[in-house]
Amino acid sequence: MENESSLLFLVEERIKTFKNGPFNDKNKCNVRNMAEAGFYSVATGVEDADAAKCFLCGKELDGWESTDDPWIEHKSHAAQCAFVQLGKKEDDLLLSENLSVIKQYMINETKQMGEMAKEKMDKKAKSIQRKCLARK
Ligand SMILES: [Zn+2]
Repeated sequence: MENESSLLFLVEERIKTFKNGPFNDKNKCNVRNMAEAGFYSVATGVEDADAAKCFLCGKELDGWESTDDPWIEHKSHAAQCAFVQLGKKEDDLLLSENLSVIKQYMINETKQMGEMAKEKMDKKAKSIQRKCLARK
């Protein structure tokens, strides 16, 4: 499962995903700054240890430099992201802004779940079809 947590709209939850973060706290590109800019870790091993994804627009970035500013990177690769457009840390968001972010996140999650369910159903339908054909 890619999304272990369904609470990734919370900065603290995003921070938790960086288990073996290659980022030093002293660098501009550290875990907290990455999480505050909307990223959570999607690393699967050593080779993609710095792979991170935006919880809202889904943009995935890797190859981070220690001097990178996560907000600037986010903006330059996904200017259309609603979180980038707000351009604020979670703690600085107005309640209405925070709610709209959470709402968008929930909509995205629901869509994804719907697509996954549809794929499963399609697979099942195909296997049933195959079985029926085999019986003829
Ligand atoms: Zn984004």
